[in-house]
Amino acid sequence: MNAKLFEYIAASPTAYHACAHTAEILTDNGFTELFESEKWALEVGKGYFVRRNGSSVIAFKIPKGDFGGFMIAASHADSPCLKIKENPEIADKHYVKLSVETYGGMIYSTWLDRPLSVAGRVTVKTEKGIEIKLVDTKDPIALIPNVAIHMNRAANSGMNYNASVDLIPLYEGGEKKDTFKGLIAKAAGVSVEDIVTTDLFLYNPQKGYEWGDFISAPRLDDLQCAFSSLEAFLEANEGSGLPVCAIFDNEEVGSQTKQGAASTFLYDVLSRIAKALGEDYCRLVANSFMLSCDNAHASHPNHPEFSDRNHTVWMNEGVVIKYNANQKYTSDAVSAAVFKLIAEKAGVPTQYYANRADMGGGSTLGNIANTQVSLNTVDIGLAQLAMHSSFETAGSKDTDYMVRALTEFYSSSLKATAAGYEI
Ligand code: ZN
Repeated sequence: MNAKLFEYIAASPTAYHACAHTAEILTDNGFTELFESEKWALEVGKGYFVRRNGSSVIAFKIPKGDFGGFMIAASHADSPCLKIKENPEIADKHYVKLSVETYGGMIYSTWLDRPLSVAGRVTVKTEKGIEIKLVDTKDPIALIPNVAIHMNRAANSGMNYNASVDLIPLYEGGEKKDTFKGLIAKAAGVSVEDIVTTDLFLYNPQKGYEWGDFISAPRLDDLQCAFSSLEAFLEANEGSGLPVCAIFDNEEVGSQTKQGAASTFLYDVLSRIAKALGEDYCRLVANSFMLSCDNAHASHPNHPEFSDRNHTVWMNEGVVIKYNANQKYTSDAVSAAVFKLIAEKAGVPTQYYANRADMGGGSTLGNIANTQVSLNTVDIGLAQLAMHSSFETAGSKDTDYMVRALTEFYSSSLKATAAGYEI
């Protein structure tokens, strides 16, 4: 399963690529793409998917039998990285550098001294208007060099990075001025004059690998969950719900975009499904359930003190259920219990995570999506190290655990009753 995960990650250097690759996998599995700008006619027993902005995707299957509500697993496809600005080159006689800004909460040091590739999308002028094309140089074309220890004796005692100085990547020698756009045009298979605008990001092209009990790869947060939910979604037998697999862009910058979890995308898709099938949207949502899937912090081998004493989670010890009193995580007694029983049925262990009471911790997309589509939700994920590093580490058993738990979730019969849930 991890080899397949590494392929998915390699094919997904940006959220655009993750979205396109997911669409390809869905198409290969007989799913039909629907467009938000067109009318929808849905057939029983068929699978569909919808993309927004080419960077978020929602897939669903219309069950053959009666269904009570939506069974949703939601994750995100974006990761912290460097975005290349529209006027990319900073050139002098000796060096051409790239003008960048940070996207999301990167660990800066992990981006230095490693070859970086460029991927994203470009708009290309055509006779009729513009065409959007994905681009990926695949080969590394830039690097952010450290300052030698001899010139910066403070390098090992708490480096204070200035993103506008210390994170500027070196692209080429001075004679290669004005070649960056040409390189992108070549990778996109178009001529440089036809490129109108770009959304380009630097990414770590290193392949993922498994080493004993652990796996390391770029973008495990949150492609490990995106991949697992897609696998489970394709694998699952029909349960009592209408299965939905949602992979959003922009979680790392707060989700508040037209295609993020704070947008109307999920609501629009679910309400249109209800309408197309002649069902009552509110009734369906009341009987729906969502898993907000995003990775969690494993106990650090050298810094166990950062974990809460009773809510430390470990790699290879199962799916993590995440709690936060201030509701950054949606889990409560009811939603966590439902998931715990489903995982138990699949033979998958679970563990509880909460931040130390004196640490803020992160946020994710479940509670944000709940402001648009309000339904019982639990926050889950897999334990990992070095979250937001350009190269992250997780447990080698855990991808399989997540796929099995999510397959059971999609296949299960879940019914909200006055007293609780029938599972
Ligand atoms: Zn995440």
